[in-house]
Amino acid sequence: MKINNNPLQLYKLLPGDNCRQCYLPSCMAFAAAVIAGEKRLTACPRLDPAVLARLEAEFCPRRSLADEQADRIGELRQQVAGLDFAALASRLGAVLRGESLVISCLGKDFVIDPAGRLSSECHVNPWVQLPLLRYLLVCQGAAERGEWLPMAELAQGAAVAPLFAKRCELPLRQLADRFGEDFFELLSMFRAKVEGEPDGDRVALLRPLPRVPFRLAYQPPEEGLDSTLRITFDRSAEQNATPEMLHFLASGMAEMWEKILQSLCHPR
Ligand code: SF4
Repeated sequence: MKINNNPLQLYKLLPGDNCRQCYLPSCMAFAAAVIAGEKRLTACPRLDPAVLARLEAEFCPRRSLADEQADRIGELRQQVAGLDFAALASRLGAVLRGESLVISCLGKDFVIDPAGRLSSECHVNPWVQLPLLRYLLVCQGAAERGEWLPMAELAQGAAVAPLFAKRCELPLRQLADRFGEDFFELLSMFRAKVEGEPDGDRVALLRPLPRVPFRLAYQPPEEGLDSTLRITFDRSAEQNATPEMLHFLASGMAEMWEKILQSLCHPR
């Protein structure tokens, strides 16, 4: 049986013990990770050597996520390079500096030159590169409506909502729980407007892109109830971004803030 990069076909050749010795919760999860290029077949100590030899001969893992992101960034640069930056600036809420566009992301300036190259005084990583370049292509300059919607209620957002809850809202809630006031002070350093009292309900208004505000509402745990953290978007996000961009920005922020908090602060 050929596996054809199909996790189910690979799963059928695994021991099926769900023993977790590969550090994943099940053989099915292991099959998906191998197909995605995140795990090697040799990470399963129970795989029959004859099956391993056969699979290694026929199996071609997918390209890594980093390679795919680099390709995508290259494509976006080419598309952006053909745009009229002077005409775009006000629609994007950006500023023209010479022939380059300057876009504010969480209060930090990112410069896009006419060749589509991105630079900043901050570290430039894919989570900001991809949505920033895409922003030039999709933002229609819609004015804010003051109507805040969760991901699931945005146009095309329902398909992204489960992953958004798992990869963005959950890790941010865990950071708020662990670091308390340090978390909200960090948001303020990224120009978030934070309201509410320490140890009480907090609301933060963030601007990862000039015309794409995020509203983050946090309720701390109390009387046996878990904390909650919800991110909502102004309805204008339907014209000024895509759900994938919103997800990418929020997951990148969660990752970046976790690194900063772990290096600077002690969990409470
Ligand atoms: S180590 Fe192998 S048998 Fe155990 S859960 Fe992982 S894939 Fe399944």
